[in-house]
Amino acid sequence: MDERDKRRLGEQVEPGGRPKAPGRLELLQRFVNSYNHDLPREWDRIGTAAKARSWLREKGLLAPGDRVSAADAARLRELREAIRALAIANQGEPPDAAAITVIRAAAATAQLSVSVGDDGRTALEPATRGVDGAVATLLGILHEAQLTGHWLRMKGCRQCGYAFFDRSKNRSAAWCAMSICGNRTKNRAYYRRRGSAT
Ligand SMILES: [Zn+2]
Repeated sequence: MDERDKRRLGEQVEPGGRPKAPGRLELLQRFVNSYNHDLPREWDRIGTAAKARSWLREKGLLAPGDRVSAADAARLRELREAIRALAIANQGEPPDAAAITVIRAAAATAQLSVSVGDDGRTALEPATRGVDGAVATLLGILHEAQLTGHWLRMKGCRQCGYAFFDRSKNRSAAWCAMSICGNRTKNRAYYRRRGSAT
């Protein structure tokens, strides 16, 4: 994979060419995949206040006049890593307690309201603007996905932490792309075994 493709990973390109998550869950998937620890830190799409602002704007999560401070960007990154931890827990382990604390703190200030369309359809919408509204939207998506059951298929890769949507019948996928991360994990185990044998 060349650098151009790597830079598009998690946004225009899915690791392993997997199909993206359905409906609004795709937005939450993009949020988690706005960074990957295998890539240079300066590639973090919400790494600074300016980057976070343009990413949120691009995703329709901020209005044109909304501002983003460095502290806002930092709390977004903290929330992202907590949601990533929750997705990794979908591999079958209990979720990390610190991650739950972060998500709970974000939820404590998030304000959501139920909107009703002309056709009677209801939707969870943020009741505030700005970064608080963006956080509320993301948490609303997390809640919706848990109700539909889609959330259990939103997994964090055991190796690289990418969020991928597991469409396998028995929800057994453990790596974002078996050909990359799966083999990498296996190779490491192989070298470990070989190392301990000598
Ligand atoms: Zn991976």
